[in-house]
Amino acid sequence: MKRSIAWSGLCIALATLAGCGGGMKQEQKVQIVDYHVHLKGALGLDDALAISRVTGVRFGIAQNCGKGFPVTDDAGLLAYVESMRGKGVFVAMQAEGREWVTMFSPQAIARCDYVFTDSMTWRDDKGRRMRLWVPNEVFVDDKQQFMDMLVERTVWILENEPIDIYVNPTFLPAVIAEEYDALWTDQRMDRVIDAAVRNGVAIEINTRYRLPSERFIGRAKQAGATFACGTNNGGANDLGDWSYCEEMITRYGLTPEDMFCPRPDGQKAIQRKPLPKLKY
Ligand SMILES: [Zn+2]
Repeated sequence: MKRSIAWSGLCIALATLAGCGGGMKQEQKVQIVDYHVHLKGALGLDDALAISRVTGVRFGIAQNCGKGFPVTDDAGLLAYVESMRGKGVFVAMQAEGREWVTMFSPQAIARCDYVFTDSMTWRDDKGRRMRLWVPNEVFVDDKQQFMDMLVERTVWILENEPIDIYVNPTFLPAVIAEEYDALWTDQRMDRVIDAAVRNGVAIEINTRYRLPSERFIGRAKQAGATFACGTNNGGANDLGDWSYCEEMITRYGLTPEDMFCPRPDGQKAIQRKPLPKLKY
């Protein structure tokens, strides 16, 4: 297995314990960790561990937590954490929808190694709750106005929700996905990037959706963002290809210092920022 330099004293310790960096070594090469793996479909923990062993890529296994998802309260979250501890993976919470901030206690959330969310579920200005990956729940009355809302919600999430990673970043619903490059203007990108950097939230490089775009990653790198590789697999067949992460790491010269590493107890996002009131 390739070794990479660890990017802080704390991370060296964590990396050695949990395997996110690889240990104290000399060469500035990123060792990929997939922080966004789900045990779904045919993929069980043993299968995930087997893939991890063969590929040398460490995993963070995430449970979907929130309204309409398998885990909806502290008891479920703690049972999940318990079931994953000591199994050689990071234990992650995927916070779903915006309602999650009202459903879990900071103490339970802090038992996870890290928390992530996306900006794919929110209420629009007319109060319609949208899940952007569900076509019949998406309302795009006006593309520009929709984009302004998406950026506003995303910035609000990054500013207010105690998360460590922003995942599925810049995802657009199918109805406008083909216009990604035109709709994600530099100005819109920079608002999201700026909020992520200011709030210490890492930006996922999603290898399955190939998101965010190269242009976004380049601008984020310039702005001093931190990145985290992730797949968001839907089952067993779409895990194991990290080529987009690898391409972006090479293209933008990302080093271990540019990459996310779960923070130690006491410094997690949930321990630095209170849970906000539900807004969207
Ligand atoms: Zn996910």
